[in-house]
Amino acid sequence: MIAPILRQKSALRAAVKAWKQAGETVAVVPTMGALHQGHLSLVRAAETQCDRVIVTIFVNPKQFNNPEDLENYPRTEEDDAQKLSHHRVDAIYCPDPDQIYPDGFCTNISISGLTEVLCGAHRPGHFDGVATVVTKLFTQTLADKAFFGEKDFQQLQVVKRLAADLDLPVEVVGCPTIREEDGLAMSSRNLLLSDRARIKAPALHEALEDMADGLRNGGTAEELGAIARKRLIAAGFNEVEYLDLRACDDLSLLNKPDRDARLLVAAWLAGVRLIDNIGV
Ligand code: AMP
Repeated sequence: MIAPILRQKSALRAAVKAWKQAGETVAVVPTMGALHQGHLSLVRAAETQCDRVIVTIFVNPKQFNNPEDLENYPRTEEDDAQKLSHHRVDAIYCPDPDQIYPDGFCTNISISGLTEVLCGAHRPGHFDGVATVVTKLFTQTLADKAFFGEKDFQQLQVVKRLAADLDLPVEVVGCPTIREEDGLAMSSRNLLLSDRARIKAPALHEALEDMADGLRNGGTAEELGAIARKRLIAAGFNEVEYLDLRACDDLSLLNKPDRDARLLVAAWLAGVRLIDNIGV
């Protein structure tokens, strides 16, 4: 059954109020749509942990630093609703833009430190946009738990920090990255890859795995990173924005995995920016 699509926060609030009065717990899965198995794995986790599940679909203009990227972002609402019909989803919240950004909106949520590296350093304003919309989705849905993918590892850390710093009464749950058979991390942006580029794309994940092996064998991120960058360019990538070993908690740069560490990469392939990360 297709869950009701709600476009107004008043309708959402009414549904949530009834659930809460009945003592039910509420999950939110925030997305920008063009749903794939990665998103659906978050929905499955939400289904198992909460009585009610809200999936939000909102292509948030505030988190796009590039207008062309915003314009090209895939929008597939009907398909998305179909895919969600196979799950226990109670509401699909596709807010009208004025429900998120009413006339005169001038509040900005900004997190320092964590957002100044990796994607934050390359996409000015991106994490302010994420933090602002996520705060609004949390307060509008009043969710007890919110499900985010490790695919966007920096985003997950930023949202956890945001919830802790602002005492938002929501538990932020991280879920593992779902991949295609050839290792490419599932992403709505993969739809933008040409057939030729799609064949080259798994090199990104392979580079991370090889670098992780090298680190486990005592190599340094500096030397292994230089080799991996060259390999990515040789495999057809146009530019590697970053390929870093970082501490999981504060995202500080590491040369050896002597703390709980993560390898993170962003690279451009035929006009599409791909990101990925793995634990080391
Ligand atoms: P997006 O629609 O790209 O904003 O993503 C919505 C949520 O789905 C975010 O929490 C992402 O981290 C998560 N997500 C996207 N791709 C994957 C994936 N391949 N595996 C797991 N979670 C994912």
